[in-house]
Amino acid sequence: MGKGVFQVPTAINEPIKSYAPGTPEREEVLAAYKELYNASVDVPLYINGKEIRTGDTGTMAPPHDHQHILGTYHKAEKKHIQEAIDTAIQAREEWANLAWEQRAAVFLRAAELIAGPYRAKINAATMLAQSKNIFQAEIDAACEFIDFLRFNVEFMTKIYEDQPESTSGAWNRIEYRPLEGFVYAITPFNFTAISGNLPASAALMGNTVVWKPSDSQIFSAQVIVEIFKEAGIPDGVINVVYGDPVMITDTVLASPDFAGIHFTGSSHVFKDIWAKIGTNIHHYKTYPRIVGETGGKDFIIAHPSANAKQVATGISRGAFEYQGQKCSAASRAYIPKSLWSDVEKFLKEDIASFKMGSPEDMSNFITAVIHEGSFDKLASYIDQAKKDENAEVIIGGGYDKSKGYFIEPTVILTKDPKYTTMCTELFGPVITIYVYEDSEWSQTLELVDQTSEYALTGAIFSTDRYAATEATKALQNSAGNFYINDKPTGAVVGQQPFGGARASGTNDKAGSYLNLLRWVSPRTIKETFVSPADYRYPFLGE
Ligand code: NAD
Repeated sequence: MGKGVFQVPTAINEPIKSYAPGTPEREEVLAAYKELYNASVDVPLYINGKEIRTGDTGTMAPPHDHQHILGTYHKAEKKHIQEAIDTAIQAREEWANLAWEQRAAVFLRAAELIAGPYRAKINAATMLAQSKNIFQAEIDAACEFIDFLRFNVEFMTKIYEDQPESTSGAWNRIEYRPLEGFVYAITPFNFTAISGNLPASAALMGNTVVWKPSDSQIFSAQVIVEIFKEAGIPDGVINVVYGDPVMITDTVLASPDFAGIHFTGSSHVFKDIWAKIGTNIHHYKTYPRIVGETGGKDFIIAHPSANAKQVATGISRGAFEYQGQKCSAASRAYIPKSLWSDVEKFLKEDIASFKMGSPEDMSNFITAVIHEGSFDKLASYIDQAKKDENAEVIIGGGYDKSKGYFIEPTVILTKDPKYTTMCTELFGPVITIYVYEDSEWSQTLELVDQTSEYALTGAIFSTDRYAATEATKALQNSAGNFYINDKPTGAVVGQQPFGGARASGTNDKAGSYLNLLRWVSPRTIKETFVSPADYRYPFLGE
């Protein structure tokens, strides 16, 4: 320890593989998919490095093939959660005291394992668990996850390097201590990378973690657990529990050692957790860090000067990739009357060419939505739009859950800019479009800003620099990630730090040093080399 000022390998974004026909990566991932599809796995809890099978099990199935059982997972009882908490507290001292380069090495090793030997497996597991086509799996489970791990190591060193001035005779130092207690990570279904990053980022900074993945992502979460284990994360540092989210959360939040939550998921769940933390505040030894990235109602607005084909492509990709189940997915669009007929034509052509089905058939652009609850919710909004006078389903609108939870990419046109699907997060392949009068550009910007409670992502398309500038100003609080002439999805770690404000979260920017700062509690140390030996200051002299 302390025998060098080490430099970490320069972080670079993991190159995305193509998976084009004939490439070796395509063959490998298809073979891994078949193997995982046919092997029945039994996923245990993972506490203090031990696998725990409670016997109370749930099943896992691919959303695109819901009658096929991929395996089972074990659900925790309250005593297991308590055990995970106790373990995290016990493991903290040794882990927190480990030299930072050792922690860095473990996570850099995890990144290399994903980039190499585990790439096909984690991608195939994500295709099966979350119904991602191979490209969506690759940019998430492989590339984004690797990027989080590599860049966070670099950000950690930048934080550590940030030190105060030292005047002559004294040395001022800041130690970036991990939080005093343990961190609770709750992760969503939609990104394997987020699932791995939420526990890993807190652990990288020296914290120990209790991690609860989403029920709908356990099949790929268990590959993350396997990778963390092989990377050498010591026992007790990241403890993984599955089961009733309310029981688990209530048990965790009741612990006086609860020091922070790293959450990604829906806004209402986060708000409820925040309220519970508030109720328990007198019991905690420290004020808990509350970090949550939550829902969105992400927009695209085109100016009359925009290129109609580019706008249509922004909608096709931004609204429908991964079936609109990205927190950043465009779900409302504002198109000027003069552009609408062209945008509509291009959009119809694009969507007519989308193929939908299992991700195993790599020609499918669209696959299933995550589960029956989501399917039923989306179907009910589509049915309502078919009935409502102020809305019209102009593309798609079909759905079928006989084999998998398939919802056709759907475009609703509304005359009411505050129509329910312009305001509510649906989290599926549905976008609602409002056509505005060209002369009402400025008023429409105000509408975009005022329509939803969220402020996660948004995009404007314009070739007019004045209009782009006006929109950038008018929408400065409407999105934490704002795009000019691009779709509102696809943030890259190290390039576009991600997160939104208002009801979209605490905006602590995953994929940047800002997030890591939440997992440390700095201690300032002043060391005086020769201490004064007389209390009298010169001004006290005769
Ligand atoms: P979700 O809120 O249903 O679940 C997220 C996690 O919370 C899961 O682990 C779940 O089991 C747990 N959970 C559910 N109910 C709970 C409760 N009452 N108490 C404690 N924990 C509970 O979200 P989801 O469906 O997995 O993910 C989709 C949501 O996540 C969308 O709203 C999306 O916008 C959001 N999201 C946001 C970002 C972002 O960066 N802002 C990224 C990804 C997803």
